[in-house]
Amino acid sequence: MRKLKEELRQRQAKGLYRRRRITETPQQPQMIIDGREVISFCSNDYLGLANHPSVVKAFQDTANIFGVGSGAAHLINGHTRNHHELEEALAEFTGRERSLLFSTGYMANLGLIQALVGPGDTVLADKLNHASLTDGALLSRARLHRYPHGDMNLLLKRLKEAEAGEKLIVTDAVFSMDGDFAPLPELAKLAQEYDAWLMADDAHGLGVLGKTGAGSLEHYGLNTAEVPILMGTLGKAFGTAGAFIAGSEELIEHLIQSARTYIYTTAMPAALAAATLVSLKIIVTEPERRNCLHELVGYFQQKARQFDLKLLPSNTPIQGIMLGDNLKALTVSERLFEQGFMVTAIRPPTVPAGTARLRITLSASHSEAQIDALIRSLLASIAIS
Ligand SMILES: *Cc1c(COP(=O)(O)O)cnc(C)c1O
Repeated sequence: MRKLKEELRQRQAKGLYRRRRITETPQQPQMIIDGREVISFCSNDYLGLANHPSVVKAFQDTANIFGVGSGAAHLINGHTRNHHELEEALAEFTGRERSLLFSTGYMANLGLIQALVGPGDTVLADKLNHASLTDGALLSRARLHRYPHGDMNLLLKRLKEAEAGEKLIVTDAVFSMDGDFAPLPELAKLAQEYDAWLMADDAHGLGVLGKTGAGSLEHYGLNTAEVPILMGTLGKAFGTAGAFIAGSEELIEHLIQSARTYIYTTAMPAALAAATLVSLKIIVTEPERRNCLHELVGYFQQKARQFDLKLLPSNTPIQGIMLGDNLKALTVSERLFEQGFMVTAIRPPTVPAGTARLRITLSASHSEAQIDALIRSLLASIAIS
């Protein structure tokens, strides 16, 4: 039997131990975590919607009508009018024929890949993709090729070598731990040329990028023919929970018939769907939240430059500071916490070995003064580590 105690001890020695802090407040910049007042710079609640009064009210009102649990899977009797309206609204928002709700983004990725490819097929994936895309490919039992981050030449080579069978290219649209963009226009061109499916996981672009907030595809002006499969999560900019896949009528009907993580699980609560519908309305009607967020990203970058703080290349609210060493990243993160800032240290296996980093995320709810204070604290914490 494995010596779990010993393994845990070794993990601790390598700076790879993970533990939870306990949060006592809703998602917002000022939080109480582990009993300490901190300014949070690690949430994915980019637009400040997770605790928005109208979103909360929709959740409460719908819970008063439908109760809490949805009681069954979508294909049994758990698919309420609220779920259905949200699917229609998300399809319209993303400019696609249909969309399909999943309980989490992790499950959406697993379900999509497993429904579309199997033994004899090929999945091509960026090495820095989210873990759920890798796991989906492994579960599908298709051949999996992971190309170096953004390396279109290697992808081209792999596409040429791929044997008969379906080809599916999967990519984060905005890379979750680096904040940079996938080269979606190039990916779309290669996919069309080699008759491959292309799936973009836009967990971090949706609500944040594009004129109307429709995400990375809107940012690049790419349509359904160019990127046939779009995945979005609801737990980030939408501020609720769950996920969806948007695409053609046939794609969605196929998923309803065969995506196992869709079929064999309980539908999300109706109240959550109703709350998300309100989030979506705010995303569409209040572009000032997005504008404010992008101004804050610019402000943070300018301040970082001014004080010689090296950032990973990114123009999204995900801003990374590479530290390399696991223990160093952990020490700096803990020092920041003691000074009243919550910034997480991201370590392997979430990121490749030797690339431990601080991952700072900005929200429309932050203030310039909070960013100034964070920069001061970052400089001090990194200097003495
Ligand atoms: C967060 C995230 C997911 C998973 O979404 P959940 O709804 O949290 O399960 C998938 N892909 C990417 C790129 C993500 O950042």
